Amino acid sequence: MNIEEATSVYPFLKRGLKDKFDQRTSLQSFLEINRSELIDSIDHLTKIMNGEEATFSTDPDRRVIDYVITKIVLTYIRDYFISARYAIRERNALYENFEKEKDPKILRLVSQELSVEIDRQEDKYLISIPSFLKNAVVFNDKELKLCNQELMDGKVVASKHVLAKVIREAFYRKYMLDVNEVVEFPAEVDELLKPYVSEVVSKGREIRQERANLGPLNERAFPPCLAEIIDQMKKGANVSHAGRFFLVTFLHRIGLPNDEIFKYFGDVPDFAEKITKYQIEHITGTGRGREYSVPSCQTLGSLGLCYKERDPLCSSGKISHPLGFYRTRNLSNRPVGKPGSVNRVDKSGNSQK
Ligand code: SF4
Repeated sequence: MNIEEATSVYPFLKRGLKDKFDQRTSLQSFLEINRSELIDSIDHLTKIMNGEEATFSTDPDRRVIDYVITKIVLTYIRDYFISARYAIRERNALYENFEKEKDPKILRLVSQELSVEIDRQEDKYLISIPSFLKNAVVFNDKELKLCNQELMDGKVVASKHVLAKVIREAFYRKYMLDVNEVVEFPAEVDELLKPYVSEVVSKGREIRQERANLGPLNERAFPPCLAEIIDQMKKGANVSHAGRFFLVTFLHRIGLPNDEIFKYFGDVPDFAEKITKYQIEHITGTGRGREYSVPSCQTLGSLGLCYKERDPLCSSGKISHPLGFYRTRNLSNRPVGKPGSVNRVDKSGNSQK
């Protein structure tokens, strides 16, 4: 694969982008020339926000233009929530391609682009420990725990599969940093973009408002019934279908995208990736299923999943729904002196007002 072909598979590669675009073209001209692609990119983003099917173009040139335009749009919008939804799609596409990639030159190029220095050693890859740790912050993924890695001369000896996971997370971190940087857009570009982005921005606002009264993502505010299920999963116990159903509905309702929910299933013994993904999609209504509600305390109690004796708030009898517990605990844990807005915190510790 030459660099041009690689760029269409890994559209973030700077070397390829430089070859593809005329550096003298202004941002305004670029967007005007590619106005129909801009409209399609906004449409693509809106579909993602709505949880609809949205695939990347299979045309190599188009794939790169769409990537660039979407990045411009997301930088312009600068909305963490919208960016995260899109970045997860890109991250997953990268992971799939990188897992299949055989060309060592391309593997190295992609890794370098994402600041992950690697050395090849037979069929393994050496990654520096700081670089590994920076990008291996995935909840409940045994394969990315440092204690499960072979170490040699201050480096992690990683399989291609583990390297692909590190690369996937490195991309996500970098992308989110890039698109959330403060960038001053020229007035003409501002005028050009504003009418197109309003729909996707209001969709993001709508979803956030719906979830705002639940506060930021905060695992410490999870009710005992949910904490027990997560704990059981971490220990590798076979959690009941009802327990898993509750976990998915709850995490979905507090705003986690399906990919993040999926990570909670990493240690389940009968782990079957496709089935789990299908079930998550079904329960959250992003597949063909409907969006299921979070079961009430009464239902959970009848299923033997309530642990109210473990927490005074639950045993006070004032809680009738796990989301009520979460809302109460989460909002009462806000930092003193910061009423009103809350920060949404993602897995890597980034936050958004
Ligand atoms: S009272 Fe409700 S929130 Fe508390 S442990 Fe029982 S089911 Fe969960």
